[in-house]
Amino acid sequence: KPVHERRFGLTNYNSGGKVPLGLKRKGLRIVVTGGAGFVGSHLVDRLMQRGDSVIVVDNFFTGRKENVQHHFGNPRFELIRHDVVEPLLLEVDQIYHLACPASPTNVVGTLNMLGLAKRVGARFLLTSTSEVYGDPLQHPQVETYWGNVNPIGVRSCYDEGKRTAETLTMDYHRGAGVEVRIARIFNTYGPRMCIDDGRVVSNFVAQALRKEPMTVYGDGKQTRSFQYVSDLVDGLMRLMEGEHVGPFNLGNPGEFTMLELAKVVQETIDKDAKIEFRPNTEDDPHKRKPDITKAKDLLGWQPQVSLRKGLPLMVSDFSKRIFGDHKEAAG
Ligand code: NAD
Ligand code: UDP
Ligand code: UDP
Repeated sequence: KPVHERRFGLTNYNSGGKVPLGLKRKGLRIVVTGGAGFVGSHLVDRLMQRGDSVIVVDNFFTGRKENVQHHFGNPRFELIRHDVVEPLLLEVDQIYHLACPASPTNVVGTLNMLGLAKRVGARFLLTSTSEVYGDPLQHPQVETYWGNVNPIGVRSCYDEGKRTAETLTMDYHRGAGVEVRIARIFNTYGPRMCIDDGRVVSNFVAQALRKEPMTVYGDGKQTRSFQYVSDLVDGLMRLMEGEHVGPFNLGNPGEFTMLELAKVVQETIDKDAKIEFRPNTEDDPHKRKPDITKAKDLLGWQPQVSLRKGLPLMVSDFSKRIFGDHKEAAG
């Protein structure tokens, strides 16, 4: 068969949206790639709680076994150490595809998981990112905005990787009838976040707890919108179970400058915490805030946890991990 037909030709692999998966509330077989990571492990908790059988596929690149070890021994839970860049054969109903290092390999991993979805007729959810909007010229960002991404910049590997992943996802949907869902996730924080991966909330919290100055890049006037992880997981599950492909922005519209964020961290951890200015990185988006009208209307979703409510929950988890109480917070 010609390559095009092999990949996109009509097959009977997938029902093309006719299987009412959303009606089956319980007992689904679900794979979560990147399930040992920050967001993935919280999602796994919710799916396990609901009674589903969950297979976590993770290569522990940034994820940790500790994030899911409380499920070890549960017959509905399985953990596979696997790099999604390599093909994977499984029989499942749904695929939450979160595995993603900030490098081009996420494209190959996405292709494999779409191939898997096509073969077994599973519903596939891609965790894309607000980074697809680049340094946006529209504010707040609506899903119909195509974005402003520098294709050759220092961040483009991640941004363009996710844009390509969205393209592949829609091509498998249109061409092979795979049931897909696309979430564009805005900055998310919470317990189990990587302590040292350099994101702003984890940096500020760890720095304030360690009595180090909080490093503000540039003038600190750039903005982000910070979403608590339980709100995101709720949105991802509604999206997977609902009837709409998306893309959907999933984020908290509360917008903060980095200086305002530093202030909230001071209020939460240490009012005397110092701020230190550092040169900013290239291509840093100046502002970002989701328009979530679409998710509100079609998924009945909106965030419940404000930054001031969510931050203390993350702080107690971080202080346990930093100060050596090795019992991990469960969420
Ligand atoms: P994370 O690094 O904690 O989780 C990613 C997980 O994927 C880790 O457990 C890692 O070990 C695993 N992984 C990476 N490459 C893999 C591979 N090749 N094969 C198998 N496993 C692999 O990050 P997170 O914050 O939980 O992000 C989850 C998803 O959400 C990612 O796709 C990310 O791009 C997206 N996202 C997150 C945010 C955020 O603010 N946290 C914002 C936008 C998008
Ligand atoms: N794939 C996978 N698991 C499966 C089915 C496919 O990992 O259960 C991989 C497969 O190895 C390929 C990719 O997914 O690299 C795309 O598969 P598809 O069948 O769409 O493309 P083709 O193999 O026909 O090029
Ligand atoms: N940032 C900062 N100090 C830090 C880390 C990040 O001021 O220690 C800034 C960064 O320049 C950016 C914002 O915080 O403007 C968010 O950065 P992050 O890497 O968390 O997320 P992203 O840029 O991917 O939205």
